Amino acid sequence: MSAEHGSEQMQTSGTRVVEISCEEVWREISNYLEDEISADLRTRMEEHFKGCKRCAAVLDGTRNVVRLFGDATAIELPAGFSERLRQKLR
Ligand SMILES: [Zn+2]
Repeated sequence: MSAEHGSEQMQTSGTRVVEISCEEVWREISNYLEDEISADLRTRMEEHFKGCKRCAAVLDGTRNVVRLFGDATAIELPAGFSERLRQKLR
C-alpha cells in the first residue's frame, strides 16, 4: 500500500531497450498486431508506445480497423478508395 516504495523503479539501467523511430513503428504496426514480428522488436515497440502518445493513438486506431476488417492489410487502402479509382478508370 505504500506509494513511496515503488518510486525507485525509475532507474532502468541495465535493461535499456534500443529505441526505434515512429516511422519504424508505423511500418511494423500491422505486423505487431498480427504477431508477425520478433519478440525483440515487439518489446521495443511496446516500450515506444509507453513513451509516445502519438504512436499509442495510432496503435489504438489500427487495432480498431483490424477488429472491423479482421485483416491488417485493409489499412493500406481506405474503404471505398479502390472502388472510386475503378470508376475513374472506366
Ligand atoms: Zn512514436
